[in-house]
Amino acid sequence: MKALTAHMPRVRLGHAPTPLEPMRRLGEWLGGPRLYVKRDDCTGLATGGNKARKLEFLLGDALAQGATVLVTVGALQSNHVRQTAAAAARLGLACVALLEDKVDIASAAYQHGGNVMLDALLGARVLRYPRGTDMAAQLAAFCDELRGQGQRPYAVPMGGSSAIGNLGYVECARELAQQARDMGVPLTHIVLATGSGGTHAGLQAGMLALGLPVQVMGINIMGEVGAQAAMVWRQVQATLAQLDVVRPFDAADLRLMDGYVGDGYGLSTAAGMAAIRSVARLEAVLLDPVYTGKAMGGLIDLARRGHWSAEDHVVFLHTGGQAGLFAYADQMAAEAPEGLQMKP
Ligand SMILES: *Cc1c(COP(=O)(O)O)cnc(C)c1O
Repeated sequence: MKALTAHMPRVRLGHAPTPLEPMRRLGEWLGGPRLYVKRDDCTGLATGGNKARKLEFLLGDALAQGATVLVTVGALQSNHVRQTAAAAARLGLACVALLEDKVDIASAAYQHGGNVMLDALLGARVLRYPRGTDMAAQLAAFCDELRGQGQRPYAVPMGGSSAIGNLGYVECARELAQQARDMGVPLTHIVLATGSGGTHAGLQAGMLALGLPVQVMGINIMGEVGAQAAMVWRQVQATLAQLDVVRPFDAADLRLMDGYVGDGYGLSTAAGMAAIRSVARLEAVLLDPVYTGKAMGGLIDLARRGHWSAEDHVVFLHTGGQAGLFAYADQMAAEAPEGLQMKP
């Protein structure tokens, strides 16, 4: 299959292809459909995750522009910020992380552990902002300030989601389709967590560009679903335009499932925590409370409600988040007071 993105500047940062593996025990436990996991938690960039693929194209662009410092934004426990700090370190660039105190969790693990610890370890300069700050405005203002000092900043958007960043998931669509073909897996659906939307949009644009009838289903993990769906749809269009490919794609064809966010972004849900435990015990795959646990909770719920047939071949895109899992040590302990427990 030809690379759709061959003409775009790119720097290699991640391990690819990431494995595509069956989840037999989880599939049997649920009684169908056929389940697989695409291990983008194994992209290798300072504990891995989906942002590595986006950063390959974003940093290709940054280097082409002669940038010397990356500036990015995210929530305190952002996996995206940690991977951006890692990419900067790898390429010898400076990194400034503007972090919003978006989630009301006071534990030491959340405030100082997980990704926050790794941001500092990787050499990023971390600045914290109160909840509700307009982070996009802060990002622009901070870059202006650096330019005023004679530096060459590159603004990496929230979640790395942009027409350029999303090319990482166009490439992933191609990689996954090739793997499925090689393994004789008649892939029908992909399920993933949708946050800033670029992963979802890139995969959808990639499948459209490749002409493959694979349904991409996002599980919404933040914000109001209608606004999120409109935002992802716009990103699909922008990504297709970036690829210079014309494909019709109705807003009604975008799949974004609601009902799994709970009380909000970054706040754990009982279904998400149960999914994290089940998948750890059945597959030894580690999920996180913010993204992949909620997405897997959605997949499990949909499977139980008979959303898929036994002939469907469903891939769960594991987008990472393992470093973030450690920030939720207190919530994990509170949710699983039973101690030693062999049942999924
Ligand atoms: C950022 C992130 C997502 C969501 O990806 P978007 O492209 O922002 O929608 C999902 N899972 C994990 C672990 C992430 O860090």
